[in-house]
Amino acid sequence: MADDPGLGKTLERAGFIATGILRVAFPDMAPDPQFPVVEGFQFGAMLLTGADHPERYRGLIPLEGGRTMVNVREVAASINLQGRTGTDGCIAAVYTDERGSPCGITARHVVNRYRRGDRVPLQCFDCGNPARMLRSAPGLIDAASVSLPCGGPHYRCPEPGLLRPALEGETLVLHLGQSGRDEATVMASLSTSSQIKSAAIPQHFLTDRHGYPGDSGSLITGLEFAQPADLVGMYLGEADCEDREGILETYGYALDLKQAADMLGARNIRGNYYG
Ligand SMILES: [Zn+2]
Repeated sequence: MADDPGLGKTLERAGFIATGILRVAFPDMAPDPQFPVVEGFQFGAMLLTGADHPERYRGLIPLEGGRTMVNVREVAASINLQGRTGTDGCIAAVYTDERGSPCGITARHVVNRYRRGDRVPLQCFDCGNPARMLRSAPGLIDAASVSLPCGGPHYRCPEPGLLRPALEGETLVLHLGQSGRDEATVMASLSTSSQIKSAAIPQHFLTDRHGYPGDSGSLITGLEFAQPADLVGMYLGEADCEDREGILETYGYALDLKQAADMLGARNIRGNYYG
């Protein structure tokens, strides 16, 4: 960065910095054999900014004293959270709180108009009874807990799952409450194995597939059907990203489920599989 003042400025205005798989617009930008272009994609870093700057950064940064060069690309992103309209939203996972009451985890933007105890636009998938607002996660974490007075969708939920971060390049399953099941590749992830516990640093990730309004709060799991289940994320919406060549890509936008659960004090969570 010291040799590249343009990158320093770009980092200052970036709202989301992630490593992952980028679509390569100019194959000649990729001279490094350690990160080859595979079917038009390449490993690198992505910087998302909210504003549309005329000169969006694109370049290579040296790592390991110049032995490795990594592609860095800035895109202007607008994120559309998909849970704002009408009676929409999903519950990613259920758990039992310290008082033994059944609860669910959803996206905060689905329920942020509501006060504790209010009915929220979320239903138990089994019986259709409404959930009620419990609390929102702190800071920038788009997660909230709700209570399930009906007792929760017990029989659909197997034993508590294993929480783990999304890995760039892997295939995950989006269990979208409105749009149904879909498989998606993780394109970029801020989730780290160190699992930084801070409400100021949301552990977001992007997938190549996205859902539609009403899918916010849906569960994202590993591909393999394993017991215990592999619980990875919570779907939040879509991110429209445009780079300086004007190439527009829409990604799914999700939050690390372990971070959401940690922030809400939820333990032994069980995935809520729609359909
Ligand atoms: Zn129920």
